[in-house]
Amino acid sequence: YTGKSSTQLLSDSIKKFYVKDFQSLPSVISEDISVYEAIVKMFIDDVGTLFILNEKKELVGVCSRKDLLRATMGGQDIHTTPVHIIMSRMPNIAVVFPDDLLIYAANLLIDREIDSLPVVIQKGTAFEVTGRITKTTITRAFVALIEDE
Ligand code: ADP
Repeated sequence: YTGKSSTQLLSDSIKKFYVKDFQSLPSVISEDISVYEAIVKMFIDDVGTLFILNEKKELVGVCSRKDLLRATMGGQDIHTTPVHIIMSRMPNIAVVFPDDLLIYAANLLIDREIDSLPVVIQKGTAFEVTGRITKTTITRAFVALIEDE
C-alpha cells in the first residue's frame, strides 16, 4: 500500500502524459497560398486550424476557422489574398515541444483561449512543425486516464 490518495494517483498518471505520446499529424500550408485554398485545405484535412510555413518550412503563423470566416466577410478577394495577410503570426504563436507535459499544453489552450497548438522542434532561431495538440487530444487523454486504470 503506497498510502497515496486517489487524487495523488490521478495526478501521478497525468504527469506521465507527454505531448509526444498524444500529438496528431499537423496540417500545414505555405504562407503564399490564397485564403480560398486554405479553406479547401481545412475541409480536405478535416482540421480546424492550419499551421502556416514560409519557403524554408519554418512556422510563421496560424490560421483558424474564424480567421477564414472573417476574411470572407471582409470584402477582399479570397482567391488573390494570401493567407499570410489574415493569419496570426510569430512571435505571438503559442507552441509546445514534444517533451512537454500534456497538462502544460492543456493549460496553454485554456489560458490563450485557442483550440490548437503546433508541436515544434527548434531549428536555429525558427521552429519546424512536427505535430499538433488540440482540444480533441485533451479529450482523448482524459478518456485514456480511465482506460489505463
Ligand atoms: P477560432 O478562431 O476558429 O475560434 P481559435 O480559438 O483556435 O479558433 O483561434 C482564435 C484566434 O487565435 C485566431 O485568430 C487564431 O488565429 C489564433 N490562434 C489559434 N491558435 C493559436 C496559437 N497556437 N497561437 C497563437 N494564436 C493562435
